[in-house]
Amino acid sequence: MKLVGSLSDQVVEPCFAGNHRRRLFWSMMLAKMEKRLSGWRGKHLSLRGKVTLLNSVINNLPIFLLSFFKAPKCVLEDIIKIQRNFLWGDGGGSRKMCWVSWDKICLRTEEGGLGVKNVEWFNLSLMSKWGWRFLNDKHAIWFNLLQFRYDSGLQSLCDVVSKSVLSNYSLWWRDIRLVCGTPFGGHDWFCDSISCKLGRGNSFLAWKHCWLGNISLKLLFPRLFEVCSFPNALVINCGLWENEGWSWKVGVDSTLLVGELLEDWKELTEILKDVKPCMNEVDKLIWWRDVEGFSVRNAFKRLYSLNAVNHIGSDFRRCELKRLWKAIIPCKVKLFGWRWILGALPTRKELWHRGVILGVEGSFCPLCELEEEFVGHLFLKCCKVKTIWKEVFSWFGVDFDDLLGFSDIDAIVTGEDVLLFLSNSLDGRVKSSFFAFIWSLVCWSIWNARNNLVFKHSIWNVVEIFLIIKSIGWDWISILSKGSININRDLWFANPTNFIGL
Ligand SMILES: [Zn+2]
Repeated sequence: MKLVGSLSDQVVEPCFAGNHRRRLFWSMMLAKMEKRLSGWRGKHLSLRGKVTLLNSVINNLPIFLLSFFKAPKCVLEDIIKIQRNFLWGDGGGSRKMCWVSWDKICLRTEEGGLGVKNVEWFNLSLMSKWGWRFLNDKHAIWFNLLQFRYDSGLQSLCDVVSKSVLSNYSLWWRDIRLVCGTPFGGHDWFCDSISCKLGRGNSFLAWKHCWLGNISLKLLFPRLFEVCSFPNALVINCGLWENEGWSWKVGVDSTLLVGELLEDWKELTEILKDVKPCMNEVDKLIWWRDVEGFSVRNAFKRLYSLNAVNHIGSDFRRCELKRLWKAIIPCKVKLFGWRWILGALPTRKELWHRGVILGVEGSFCPLCELEEEFVGHLFLKCCKVKTIWKEVFSWFGVDFDDLLGFSDIDAIVTGEDVLLFLSNSLDGRVKSSFFAFIWSLVCWSIWNARNNLVFKHSIWNVVEIFLIIKSIGWDWISILSKGSININRDLWFANPTNFIGL
């Protein structure tokens, strides 16, 4: 990279060899990413470990290029493909089956995702830093150079410019304009996130900038804006100091002020009545929710707030996911529970849906071989699994057969349905903070026993599985609670409500 600091020079921006609109330009970075990831191949990272790695290492690698250039769609897709294969596969290059859509993976954990950073938003937030600096670093040399070429201020960054004007810009500045000045996901996310604090009024355009609140006068009074004489006037030029007071002259011909225009005018006058420039203060730009000012992190948060779609579904689901992430259980079990709630477990019916298993008979439950294997069946309704729940419930002093008699068992299909049934059934028996612990403990054990039966041809032994449930539960509580729950093994085996009951 070189930065050339001469006004006579045509190049005032960072200059890299090649055209960043082409995939070739990014190929080295993509290869580096893949290489870095393949180093982790076969290291048996948990999904959680992989997420951490994706956020800390993988997003650091391309940060340099992503800070300067808007990555084209094809490159963003390539990056996501590499990330996705790493997350679901062993880090190799071959295509892996993805069980949850990438949009969901990129949601925050409390909203149903895994919190992997969306690389497109990350790219935009890194780039927008230049836009923000352009608006604020008025004394920097590079600002003077850009001002010389492209004019300055919010207007030059946010206003719509014609294609012919845009084509005169360098590729780099065009990208900054595209990131900061054009809508993304239907929002003028950058310019609309900036508000103006009026000082002298020599930086803000009276009609176009939001110096009176969250909306510009242009949008508030479109009819007046149509007829005003100076649409690009600065605030300071829209009034006069007279007899030590400030009087507004916003430049609308008084002969036009009849009917609706007059009404608008009166309203505008009322709004402006108590406002005046403050000559001792400079105009200041304020970033959205200005707590710490602008940062790449805050820009990312802004993009997230505008674009992350809430895929999570019901309040119940959101609440159960929240309890799951907080539960005293190992990370891998949390991830199992997450996939379970999202319907993303490789049950035979799911595999059949995805064309991995051919023939309907392949989608049948490996335990009873009577019905299709879906979450509601495998984890509750299967006759082989009911016997396990029967033991678990009697461990908590509840009669499972009675419960089934009162429930509409046919309606139970998804993980959420099972959870609702269990939540109602254990209500009053288990502390709500331990509900996720119990269901994930039992379902995790059922899933392992099912996999042992399918892949290792083990026998389905209810007594043994129930013993494993008790014993794993004891391990988790005694190890993961780090001594905060003093637990006696025999007591736990006899009656768990001593520890996690109400
Ligand atoms: Zn079955």
